[in-house]
Amino acid sequence: MTKVFKSVERVLALEAQQGYQDKAVVGGIRQFAAHWVGQAREETLDEADAALVEQIAEVLSEYGRMPGREARAKAIGSLIASLERRAKRVEKASGGQTAVAAPPLHETPRPTAKTAPPKAQPAEKEIAVQTAVVESKRRPEPPAPKPVPVAVTPDPAGLAQPVSALKGVGPKIAEKLEKLGITTINDLLYLYPRRYDDYTLMKPISKIEVGEQVTVIGTIWQTTARRVRGNATLVQSVISDGTGTIQATWFNQPWLAKQLPAGLQLVLSGKVDQFLGRPVFNSPDWEPLDLDPLRTRRIVPIYPLTEGLAGNRLRELMQKTVEYWSLRVSDPLPEEIRTRQNLLTLPQALQQIHFPESQDMLFEARRRLAFDELFLLQLGMQGQRRQWQSQDAMAVTSTAEQLQQFRDALPFALTAAQERVIQEILHDMAQQVPMNRLLQGDVGAGKTAVAAAAMVMTAQAGNQAALMAPTEILAEQHFRGLSTMLAPMELDIALLVGSTPAAEKSRIYDGLADGSIQIVVGTHALIQDPVNFRGLALAVIDEQHRFGVEQRGALREKGGTEEAESNPHLLVMSATPIPRTLALSLYGDLDLSILDEMPPGRQEIKTRWLQASERERAYTFVRRQVAEGRQAFIIFPLVEESEKIDAKAAVEEFEVLRKEVFPDLSLGLVHGRLRAEEKESAMRAFYEGETDILVATSVIEVGVDVPNSTVMVIEGANRFGLAQLHQFRGRVGRGEHQSYCVLIAGEGSEEAEQRLLALEQTNDGFVLAEKDLEMRGPGEFFGRRQSGLPELQLASLLDMPLLETAQKEAVQVFAADPDLQAPAHEQLRARIANFWQESGDVS
Ligand code: ADP
Ligand code: MG
Repeated sequence: MTKVFKSVERVLALEAQQGYQDKAVVGGIRQFAAHWVGQAREETLDEADAALVEQIAEVLSEYGRMPGREARAKAIGSLIASLERRAKRVEKASGGQTAVAAPPLHETPRPTAKTAPPKAQPAEKEIAVQTAVVESKRRPEPPAPKPVPVAVTPDPAGLAQPVSALKGVGPKIAEKLEKLGITTINDLLYLYPRRYDDYTLMKPISKIEVGEQVTVIGTIWQTTARRVRGNATLVQSVISDGTGTIQATWFNQPWLAKQLPAGLQLVLSGKVDQFLGRPVFNSPDWEPLDLDPLRTRRIVPIYPLTEGLAGNRLRELMQKTVEYWSLRVSDPLPEEIRTRQNLLTLPQALQQIHFPESQDMLFEARRRLAFDELFLLQLGMQGQRRQWQSQDAMAVTSTAEQLQQFRDALPFALTAAQERVIQEILHDMAQQVPMNRLLQGDVGAGKTAVAAAAMVMTAQAGNQAALMAPTEILAEQHFRGLSTMLAPMELDIALLVGSTPAAEKSRIYDGLADGSIQIVVGTHALIQDPVNFRGLALAVIDEQHRFGVEQRGALREKGGTEEAESNPHLLVMSATPIPRTLALSLYGDLDLSILDEMPPGRQEIKTRWLQASERERAYTFVRRQVAEGRQAFIIFPLVEESEKIDAKAAVEEFEVLRKEVFPDLSLGLVHGRLRAEEKESAMRAFYEGETDILVATSVIEVGVDVPNSTVMVIEGANRFGLAQLHQFRGRVGRGEHQSYCVLIAGEGSEEAEQRLLALEQTNDGFVLAEKDLEMRGPGEFFGRRQSGLPELQLASLLDMPLLETAQKEAVQVFAADPDLQAPAHEQLRARIANFWQESGDVS
């Protein structure tokens, strides 16, 4: 019974939308009305409905003859208003079981002077018409904007139910949803569409053009099904809307033949293809005209695909879920912020992200949900910082003489940037509040010397310092560098890595525990259980992006002394330059120091991209450089260092180079599967100039410092990321000689080519970082796991204005109520705990 009214309502809405041209249905409204009334009269109707049918019949039978747009608009408006009233009446009668309570906006029509007082039954029809006309003056242009749903009591317990609590979700579907990471109803609400098909463009068939995404409404003339080669089935329908016909074809869905009988009024949405010069639809989405639009006539959400869970099925599930449950979420955002930033309510945003009414609403929905992500991120960081600093650190004081002594020990003069940053750090460390500082500087900017200054000052104040590096090679290099650099200073420095012999290890453990070792350099071995410090006052983490949050946290936990727990001062160093505003937002819990000056005498590294076929030229060049006394690296793109198979490949490549390409030169090899001593001896031979060429895999990526090397050849350069390539390149150009980087790459993706071109064009890490960020997006840029950032689904960290707004609001909330104790912040507190759950401790 309701269905019959729905279908007329659709036609009326469509007619209004198309500007009252009597084109909404094939053959015109009048003909439709005749057909429709026939159908409606067959239904069992109560009196009110029967009267409504007659009213509609009467108005529509005149429709085609109405003199102009205005009269038609008025007539349709009146009918739509009547239909709306009917819907409300039905809803009331059913006891308000529907999720959305209708707003009390335009309930019973208020009697006006023009409205005749209700008479006896037979006159009801007349009244309906009249009041409807009066109403249509108030709201002349249907369709009217959707009323805002009345708030429903939030139901967190309901939302926490497993998806199987939803009607129509059995164990099978639940299992499939779980593959998408969805277990609760709440999860399902946050399964955002991957993209949308915009089918809001409606056209008469005669006007559609090949290539456009469009919706048409028509009647099926005929449907045929036939088998074609390869046992496939083709179902073909011819659809007409009075202005023309179009053919639609579906492949391998034989059941459609039954679902698409001649005479069916339907809506088709899809991209218009071409066949023999005529526009056709291939596998368009379709719905009967009398159903709620779900996959046609609107912006249709496309969800991530899961095998065995058809798009339509998921969409239907979503529609039901969103309609009911989005009203039951509680909005954690304080109302004050929501209004100030002019954001949708959370239920609105959820509804619109799934089933947007328009592109504008979709934009608003995204803005609201992205704001939430960024806002929580910022609040979380403020909280981290506070927590981190709630425990004291050991104040480390240093004198000007001590610092001068350090300078004197260095083989070079510090740059102004290094001096400045050292002051920033020493100032922080002199406080009892733990330092929490990020030191950024491009590859080769001299971060190690800065860290050394901080460590030496710590040691001289009678405390301990630790430096953690991501690889053994790098830890060894730091150890060697520090040992020579600090030789005049009589400090006890130790190296602790996984491959350190057991006896040596236990000597180091003892030395750290009794305080006789003042500075320790190492890898993850530093955060193992047996390591106990007498008094760790400073923790330095090199190439921090290579560490996970847990590892950083673990090192911090080693802080303090046996007697007094305290946090160490923390200095993290990164050669992945990120734009300052972004850094502040990302590492809102860290203070930032930037080394924005290179040591003097550095030359631009000349970078050339060669095709694989030009490899010989690279080899010739390497040979010439070696003849001049320089050294070279050749890198192979064996990214998965742990894989045996890659190690084998590296060995094979190495053998070819050694025996066939450079039989007269001395070559070394380093890869991740070598035993520590082998690696160590290969590195040492290269440092000391005994080998001319070091063949390596990506183990060599960070930090390695051999000033005499001038050529970096990177094979398969298209397989590396921009930041990594920049790091490789940074291995050369560290001395006085002109240096070169040769990128060898055959056919690659367009993106890969852009990376190589960018490298050819600039040596500036900041420029490259921006480029990288632009090309890859922040998620990958930072490496999801390593960044320790919660997943941002909608927000882009590149969306600076939104990021800044979110940060501003977060700082404000946090300043006023740091523990989020106020009732208005209660939900925020819970959300943050959730949001950060997986990432644990950040920074
Ligand atoms: P990164 O910032 O990439 O870690 P390093 O600390 O490894 O850079 O320094 C790169 C090279 O520059 C090293 O060989 C180091 O000894 C040298 N260096 C550092 N500071 C200076 C300086 N002020 N003057 C000259 N050379 C320097
Ligand atoms: Mg370094």
